[in-house]
Amino acid sequence: MIAGIDLGTTHSLAGLMCDGLPVLVPDLSGRRLTPSVVWFPQDAEPVAGWEAIEAMAHDPARVIASSKRWIGRRVSGGDVPSRAGEPGADGMFRLPHREVSAEEVAACILRKLRGDLKRFAGADVNRAVITVPAYFNDAQRSATKRAGEAAGFVVERILSEPTAAALAYGLDRLGMSARVAVYDLGGGTFDVSILELDQGVFEVLATNGNTRLGGDDLDKALATSWGITPPEAEKIKCLLGGTDRVDFQGHVFNRAELDAICRPLIESTRLHCQRSLADAGLSASDLDAVVLVGGATRMPLVRSFVQEIFQREPDVSQHPDEAVALGATIQAGILEGALSALTLLDVTPLSLGIETFGGLMNVLIPRNSTIPCKKGEMFTNAVSGQAEMRISILQGEREMARDNWKLGELVIPFPPSPKGQARVGVQFEIDANGILQVLARDTATGTDRCLAISSAVDVTDEAVEKMLGDSLEHAISDVDERVFTETRIKALEMLPALEIVLAGLGEDLEASIRLKVDDLVSAIHRAIAARATQELKLLIRDLDILTEPLAAEFLEKSLDLRDPG
Ligand code: AMP
Repeated sequence: MIAGIDLGTTHSLAGLMCDGLPVLVPDLSGRRLTPSVVWFPQDAEPVAGWEAIEAMAHDPARVIASSKRWIGRRVSGGDVPSRAGEPGADGMFRLPHREVSAEEVAACILRKLRGDLKRFAGADVNRAVITVPAYFNDAQRSATKRAGEAAGFVVERILSEPTAAALAYGLDRLGMSARVAVYDLGGGTFDVSILELDQGVFEVLATNGNTRLGGDDLDKALATSWGITPPEAEKIKCLLGGTDRVDFQGHVFNRAELDAICRPLIESTRLHCQRSLADAGLSASDLDAVVLVGGATRMPLVRSFVQEIFQREPDVSQHPDEAVALGATIQAGILEGALSALTLLDVTPLSLGIETFGGLMNVLIPRNSTIPCKKGEMFTNAVSGQAEMRISILQGEREMARDNWKLGELVIPFPPSPKGQARVGVQFEIDANGILQVLARDTATGTDRCLAISSAVDVTDEAVEKMLGDSLEHAISDVDERVFTETRIKALEMLPALEIVLAGLGEDLEASIRLKVDDLVSAIHRAIAARATQELKLLIRDLDILTEPLAAEFLEKSLDLRDPG
């Protein structure tokens, strides 16, 4: 049996297929939601869920909540002290008696769910599909997978949350080719994804969002405006979904006020929706369905906003906070063969590539590529006599390698060879769990080196958003630098070849031509120093025209020498 698990920021759920139907599993008390909270008692095993919530009252220093934000990543600003409830720069939460990583916290939650699954099924359940946000990078997906393994699961698949939601809403019934928007506003995070169902295959075309926006922010804004506590504000917010006015401790609160306070925060999701549509190459009118995920999408204001943005009434047929777990369970059913096979595909949130000569980013797998995927390219040595190639694995949208993030490095040795002679194949493969395997092979000797990218990337989720913003902001200067670098490489490749020709012709070369060549070569060096791309291009062309007959003459001369008869 394979379980479907929604490992959420605030709460988690698990499900199993029962008689061909996905069923969410209750705990001993009959509740299906398990708070994603863990209590690490002084002298006992960790406890996850409702009991950990209770421990917040008597042992708060040993309770960790909302740790999903930190799984698989280190915290930025290494020397800044961490805030209460947040891990230190090394990614570890400091408790009075021990240190704990977000991965361990996740493992405790998953172990608790495994116990509930076992009791419900009457047998051990040791295989699972676990969901993660679509924007999770390699390190975050790997860490989630390891947490599942630490909890005793064979992790059959790491599935993106919007893809799971799409399954739960039964979007496969829409027809052979349908496009769907998934709008997910939870307690602490927001994301929007555009999916396409094509010939029975689900594909995430694009994803966008804000990892620091959710229902909790609405509660804070309401609490500030109304002069009450955030938990009180949350209660009123939820009540006002079903009625226009609420009496609370002698005060009257109405929906119009609620909407006015919440509107700017909801409005801030507009840009993300528009970007995801643009990334998918679609407009709102191309969509066949819009579905809602996350508790905060129960608000009438959110529903009307989503309807306006996507010009379509959202589908509210599922519980928005159970859809992801339900979809994960359906996926588990598909893997078990209990349901007809639909292949589920996700996309890469940022481009992946390697650094090439001149410090350029060479993209192998572009951003928003469907995974699983595999891409390969052949590279050669830029310098004669080079005996190894250093392959820097990069993630990001910038033209220059230095502006992207380095995920790792491989060094592949090969027999020293003249420039351009070595042949090194580099292959990037992203498996169904979103884990990147890099393979480099010297084709002459068959020597190869592999790297699985699962190390922590020293960047935050916010930095992913920043990367996209930066690449837009620097688009023009980045392209200028790439064109200049490529032109400079071309010039610097020409000059040594020209030296050989000039030396070979020796006395046979007319002095006036020699002068012209020297002038052009100096002008090329000046243009490189001045980074004058257009001028450099023209000079290269002129030098080409001037030296073409010389090269032919040189070739003839060397043939004559070799074959005097
Ligand atoms: P989730 O992370 O999906 O469980 O969503 C939790 C968020 O949904 C919290 O901010 C809740 O306040 C919010 N929420 C739950 N139910 C409602 C409701 N009926 N109306 C408005 N917000 C809700």
